[in-house]
Amino acid sequence: MNQPRPRVVIVGSGFGGLFAAKALADADVDIVMVAKTTHHLFQPLLYQVATGILSPGEIAPATREILADQKNVRVLMSEVTAVDLPTRKLRAEALGNVTYIKYDYLIVAAGAGQSYFGNDQFAVFAPGMKSIDDALELRARIFGSLEVAELTEDAEERKRLLTYVVVGAGPTGVEMAGQIRELTSKTVAKDYRNIDPREARVLLLDGADRVLPPFGERLSAKAKAQLEKIGVEVKLGGMVTDVDANGLELKYKDGSTERIEAGCKVWAAGVQASPLGRMIADQSEAQVDRAGRLEVEPDCSVPGHPEVFVVGDMMSLDKLPGVAQVAIQSGQYVARKIAGEVSGKPVTTPFKYFDKGSMAVISKFGAVVKMGKLELTGFVAWVAWLVLHLLYIVGFKAQVSTLLHWIIAFLTDSRAERTTTRQQMVGRLAIQQLGDNFKPTITASLDPTQVDQRVGEKNRREVRPQEL
Ligand SMILES: Cc1cc2nc3c(=O)[nH]c(=O)nc-3n(C[C@H](O)[C@H](O)[C@H](O)COP(=O)(O)OP(=O)(O)OC[C@H]3O[C@@H](n4cnc5c(N)ncnc54)[C@H](O)[C@@H]3O)c2cc1C
Repeated sequence: MNQPRPRVVIVGSGFGGLFAAKALADADVDIVMVAKTTHHLFQPLLYQVATGILSPGEIAPATREILADQKNVRVLMSEVTAVDLPTRKLRAEALGNVTYIKYDYLIVAAGAGQSYFGNDQFAVFAPGMKSIDDALELRARIFGSLEVAELTEDAEERKRLLTYVVVGAGPTGVEMAGQIRELTSKTVAKDYRNIDPREARVLLLDGADRVLPPFGERLSAKAKAQLEKIGVEVKLGGMVTDVDANGLELKYKDGSTERIEAGCKVWAAGVQASPLGRMIADQSEAQVDRAGRLEVEPDCSVPGHPEVFVVGDMMSLDKLPGVAQVAIQSGQYVARKIAGEVSGKPVTTPFKYFDKGSMAVISKFGAVVKMGKLELTGFVAWVAWLVLHLLYIVGFKAQVSTLLHWIIAFLTDSRAERTTTRQQMVGRLAIQQLGDNFKPTITASLDPTQVDQRVGEKNRREVRPQEL
């Protein structure tokens, strides 16, 4: 009788998970990829969805479609809620369906969420940007602030509504602030009658003394100058101590404080690795760092568990940054490691990261790029950014439509994706308020007994857990 092939279970369809699965295409294994979304998300361009340049589909193609021709992969939409290292089993849940999935090898690439440094209550007023939901909520808030400002006759309130604050001056914050500035000063400049969007204030805040610290002093200074040139107010050296519906408070190093009244707040500071890292650490000799990242062995495996690997944003190894290239290369490395073991040609060298550089866009035709000793700014850097991002967008269709949207946005200053809805704006908060009462099922989008007792039991369907 034929021996079943080893099963590799991959958690996550982001950079780490997807590139691991692709690198296992020719290996003698069966792969189950389980991820809580049905798409592969290109997070570096989320800010363009939030500011109306791109549509969600362009940066989030269906994982199933990407892997359709790779016959050794099965893709499942489910959220992994438990990992059991002793029995080599996962528990996954989606819309009331519970599945237990066995593995021979496990690759955990569940990424990271936003961190509010212990102040999770800020999230209600200053959403982060980690998912398509987040980007669409922010889009609704960014454009929504303008709409409410147009309605109000109160000058002070109008000023508050036209104040945008981005917290965190890393690449995401810099790109977001730059785009909100361009949106208000160019794209929508002529669209309102009661307000002049060009008068909007866009502030970028950070507790550090520089924007884009990893880019080095020279590029940081250039980036700050470019931001100020387009009208972004950069405030450095101040920690955000409170955020509420109407604005936020800052405390500077010299002890002074400042309150900024703002209608739209965006949180782009701090990450916290998936809680699966802590769950794995609790069952092994592994430790997690302050950001919840699991400290792995030099081959990305979990200490004491050579069959379990953690890659990408969840992994703590040699102080590597949480960037796409680390996730891609670590995912590909563990795939080679597993393929080598299965084929009897073990890979014995540790994971080695090759730094291809970093880049951030500041405005139309303006960017900063750092590749080893090479430092670029301005138009040349922007072209390098454009070409590279276009190449990394997954799928020909998405590349073509992204290019078209960029031509519209960069040559005409208009944006094709300005649609916002009420649900986008309030959906997350409504779900949060429902708390444990929010139980989505497969028979309806919500558990009908929770919505209305009268439709009751006949609409409920028990789903038994299944084993895979
Ligand atoms: C706004 C933003 C901008 C960025 N810009 C850049 C940039 O310009 N350059 C750069 O190099 N990097 C950038 N990054 C960082 C880069 O995107 C990440 O380093 C990279 O995505 C990490 O890949 P990953 O596979 O570890 O995690 P992710 O890509 O986050 O993927 C995690 C996957 O796990 C799934 N998942 C999570 N929890 C579970 C669970 N419990 N069960 C099942 N599935 C789960 C998610 O649905 C997702 O599919 C940016 C990140 C953000 C948020």
